[in-house]
Amino acid sequence: MIIKPVDPSRPLPLHDKGAKPPKGLPNGDELKRLLAVEQERLGELQSAFYADRRHALLVVLQGRDASGKDGTIRSVFDACNPQGCQVASFKAPTDLELSHDFLWRVHQVVPARGTIGIFNRSHYEDVLVVRVKNLVPKRVWQHRYRQINDFERMLTENGVVILKFFLHISKDEQREQFLERLTDPTKNWKFRAGDLDDRALWGDYTRAYRDALRKCSTRWAPWYLVPSDHRTARNYLITKVINETLSALKPEYPRASKEVLALKGTLAR
Ligand code: ADP
Repeated sequence: MIIKPVDPSRPLPLHDKGAKPPKGLPNGDELKRLLAVEQERLGELQSAFYADRRHALLVVLQGRDASGKDGTIRSVFDACNPQGCQVASFKAPTDLELSHDFLWRVHQVVPARGTIGIFNRSHYEDVLVVRVKNLVPKRVWQHRYRQINDFERMLTENGVVILKFFLHISKDEQREQFLERLTDPTKNWKFRAGDLDDRALWGDYTRAYRDALRKCSTRWAPWYLVPSDHRTARNYLITKVINETLSALKPEYPRASKEVLALKGTLAR
């Protein structure tokens, strides 16, 4: 089973029930087994992708607090060579970042050819939290959807393949995750009191996510809505999309020329 990109011409309700694993997906040990197979396959594809160096892959992860962005990164890229991956996490911008256009800090960490870049949050915060919390006026953020589409198109035309995943969790699941963070001492550090302010703005965020996903799911940089209440299902669905995308690029190990291969005979024992 593979999930399809968000279709901008169709309504996107983002109801809680859409956060449950899709019907038809195996569960339990069988799903864990399928995930392990896909993780392994991603490791193999990444190895060739790194050697090939024709493209870069940018994986954007967005989701509400406690939707599992960190856990997704740990699991999906488990079998990858860290040398070919880099994670960029986007926090509230610094004064220097704020004194530039909103894509300035983003462009600097776009992955180089041969590597996979993972964005833990991204330039989409500039049409999400920024919109919901009125950090800039509407006349500023309303143009950003087009600016983002233009920016992403420019990147794709320059060899960057872009996949964007929205980790969709239900309000109940977020409550469970917050309770766990407040109960388990090894997870306390993940909880911010401000998380509850954002939870109180659930509906406003839903509207902002809906617009971001529909206005910016393009041919060149599709958004995928990932049902994320169940972790193994989430990880499996994301890994599968990445693998299908990478294998369509047919990454190959560069072969040495005949002249270079002939050097084999001259190697001294
Ligand atoms: P995590 O991603 O694990 O939740 P933090 O708890 O440090 O990490 O949260 C990062 C915070 O930075 C989030 O609340 C996010 O909304 C905020 N942030 C990211 N980008 C921007 C931005 N462009 N403008 C304002 N806030 C932002």
